[in-house]
Amino acid sequence: MLLELNNITKNYDDTVVLNDVSFSLEPGVYGLLGSNGSGKTTLFRIICGVIKQNAGTVNYNHDDARTNPDAFRSVLGFLPQDFSYYPDFTGMKFMLYIAALKGINKNFAKKRCLELLKLVGLEDVKNKKIKKYSGGMKQRLGIAQAMINDPEVLILDEPTVGLDPKERVRFRNLISSFSENKIVILSTHIVSDVEYIADEILVLNQGKLENRGVSSALVNTINGYVWESMVETDKLDEMLAKHIISNQKHEATGTILRIISKEKPSNNAQQVQPTLEDLYLYYFREDAER
Ligand code: ADP
Repeated sequence: MLLELNNITKNYDDTVVLNDVSFSLEPGVYGLLGSNGSGKTTLFRIICGVIKQNAGTVNYNHDDARTNPDAFRSVLGFLPQDFSYYPDFTGMKFMLYIAALKGINKNFAKKRCLELLKLVGLEDVKNKKIKKYSGGMKQRLGIAQAMINDPEVLILDEPTVGLDPKERVRFRNLISSFSENKIVILSTHIVSDVEYIADEILVLNQGKLENRGVSSALVNTINGYVWESMVETDKLDEMLAKHIISNQKHEATGTILRIISKEKPSNNAQQVQPTLEDLYLYYFREDAER
């Protein structure tokens, strides 16, 4: 299994939304990390053939995915960000409906839908209407429907949006449990979602693939740029305005700032170990400062 994106470029009028993005993925879990507007959804839609790129190719196992879109679609599972559930359907009815849309044989569909509902922990509520499901339950149903054709490539666009911390943990465990021998790509702007679950992280910044690697290797790229400094109250505003701040801790004698800066930000600043959260702020500083 090999998914290759070669020089993907997408423009809307004069705006370049994706700029010459290339990468290749073998089985594993990949986190596409980027702030809002960085192009994640656009990239996923292009991979899935929902929209067309202006330039570049998507290849699966060395064949252009556009040449035989039905063949590629049959190995693809997709949970779009704006996924619409039918609130008056039960979970089971919804799954059967999706199975029918995908042309799955009726007898097999029932067995497969039950199996998947069990896998995502919705077996007990399969006959309840979706409008009674929690956000986490709906997301799990969304994942189940994306898995209906036992895809080799599973694409999940912001799958953890709206989940509470407990549901997030459950979601991560779910992904790990079925990711073996699949290419799973999930997008998020939440660092902790990819930190624990993804084998590799791809950083998309303003339509460009900024970096790619295992979390520790990415974090190492900002070694020496993260500092902690005790700042007196009268200097605080100046420091906050001048630097990317990843944390502030107020103490009786002042405020301890965690600062991301290539230069030593103050005389008393001490270098500290960077984290993925620091890296995110380093790349997406404009969002961080907002
Ligand atoms: P993300 O998923 O990372 O939040 P998107 O792929 O949704 O980013 O959007 C990337 C950029 O492309 C944004 O600036 C967005 O406004 C723009 N964009 C997305 N879809 C369209 C469209 N249909 N027409 C014009 N601009 C678009």
